[in-house]
Amino acid sequence: MPPSENRLLSALPPQDYARLTARMTDVTFEHRGNAYRPGAALDAVYFPRCGVMSSVMILLDGSTAEVAATGGEGMLGYSTFLGATRSVEDVFCQIPPCVCRRLPAAEFVAEVARGGVLTAIVHNYTRSVLATSAHLIACNALHAVNERCARWLLMCRDRVGADEFPLTQEFLATMLGVRRATVTVAAGTLQTAGLIAYRHGHVKILDRPGLEAASCECYAAMRGAFDISG
Ligand SMILES: [Zn+2]
Repeated sequence: MPPSENRLLSALPPQDYARLTARMTDVTFEHRGNAYRPGAALDAVYFPRCGVMSSVMILLDGSTAEVAATGGEGMLGYSTFLGATRSVEDVFCQIPPCVCRRLPAAEFVAEVARGGVLTAIVHNYTRSVLATSAHLIACNALHAVNERCARWLLMCRDRVGADEFPLTQEFLATMLGVRRATVTVAAGTLQTAGLIAYRHGHVKILDRPGLEAASCECYAAMRGAFDISG
């Protein structure tokens, strides 16, 4: 089955869609495959059609925390239209396969400068990312790991469009910026409550309304910021 279309591109009028996608190529990222590494040139932008890409900050001591998860609702490299030339984050495929439409950054920047429909879409998307990032800062500072764990699983679920996806506890700890043992306790609590099943590197959401109730308010707020149809 071919991957579904990226929802930012789907919002384009037919003529713009045809003109722009004709200049794009499909690339597929497998697990841990990098779109950008920290400090690397932002030479292209990507519009995911399936899967989930993670944007992760790596600190000097090697510790990491996810700052964004991007699926078919979003894009990677949008900051190039603001003049960014290098990535500050490690951006890689978290849930494969992630098929993305790729456009050279120079062509993307020129297109946004035209002031057409894509410009409005990208501006709107940027506002959503900024609002979500602000919310994420407050969430990470103030909310309990159990709530954040539930929120993160739900956000992944929406982007994958399925209740089951591959995920190790070690990876979940990396994404949440906490110790592995802390994630084990949090995931154990959600599993004991019958909300998720966790085994062999896969997580399955058993009770979505229950998991939403276990999440902090941030899930609903972050979900509302994007066009997520999952
Ligand atoms: Zn929160």
